Formats: sequence, structure tokens, C-alpha cells
Amino acid sequence: MAQKSVLEEARQVQLAVTLIELGARLQFLEAEVDLSRERLVRLYKEIKGSSPPKGLLPFSVDWYLTWIANIHASLFYNIYRCMLPEAARPLEALIKAFRLYQEQVEAQGEEAVLDFTRAWTLVRFFDSGMMELAACTRCGGQFVGHAHENRSGYVCVLCRPPSRAGKKRRAPDVLGA
Ligand SMILES: [Zn+2]
Repeated sequence: MAQKSVLEEARQVQLAVTLIELGARLQFLEAEVDLSRERLVRLYKEIKGSSPPKGLLPFSVDWYLTWIANIHASLFYNIYRCMLPEAARPLEALIKAFRLYQEQVEAQGEEAVLDFTRAWTLVRFFDSGMMELAACTRCGGQFVGHAHENRSGYVCVLCRPPSRAGKKRRAPDVLGA
């Protein structure tokens, strides 16, 4: 096999740096970046100042269905869906969408509930057909949920917040409402 060009090598390092800064885990870096594990660990330590955490990704579909998480996951996934046709590959859409999601949440003075790993896991749940978007019958917004569920009369978490949620919230425009 031909040796990787210096340019390609630099591109992979740049990608790794971007992903590490966004909070990607080692497991994800190994899957997406064409650099050795040692190299990735070294980069990770340089950027984060500590070793990457070990262990598997523990998220389940149900995590995305709780009240605040569902709003954030829906916001992120709607952005991702818009980015996808423009992107050269899904990873590019993921990076752009995650940054836009962070900006949108910060602009509203709130904290990001989704971290990069959760955002990526969400995309994988969609890709594998475990999750789907459903349109709210009241506001028309698109919200993430279990695939193959009966959606007739579906009302989203914004239109029907749990009583403990208190103040009324406006659906972010990006949900397509
Ligand atoms: Zn709604």
C-alpha cells in the first residue's frame, strides 16, 4: 500500500483535533479517523490534558425520549437532517450540526444537554432504523421517537410538557413548526 501523503496525514490530524475538541470519545475517533490508536491517544492527551475515558457508550433509545433530552435531540436531529444533503459525508454533517446545535442552545441561554457522543449515537439509532421523526399534530414540529410506533394524534413534549416543567416554552424554529 502506498504511504499516506503528508497532506492526507495532516487532514486526518486536523479531523482528530476537531473531533476531540467537540468531545468525541476514543472509540469514535478510532472508527472515523485514519490514524493509529497510539497517535490518537497522544493527540487526545495533548488537547484534553488527560487520558481518554475507557468503557463503552452506554446510551439507549429511551434516554432521548425524556422531556428535556427529547427537545434537544429533536433540535439537533433537525439541524443534522438539513446539513446532510450539503455535506460531502455524514461525519461532516455531524460536526456542523453539532456546532450549530451548541450555538443555538447557547443563544437561548441554555446548556447543551446533548454531548457529541450522544449526538452521534442518536444519528446511529436513526441510521439503524430504531428511531424516527414524528410530526406533532398541534405545532407541526418534527420530534425524535421510537420507530414503528403508532403516531396518530401524537403531541410533542413542547405542546404537552410534564407539569413539573413549569414555564411555557416556544418551539425552536428549526423544528419545522
Ligand atoms: Zn408540538
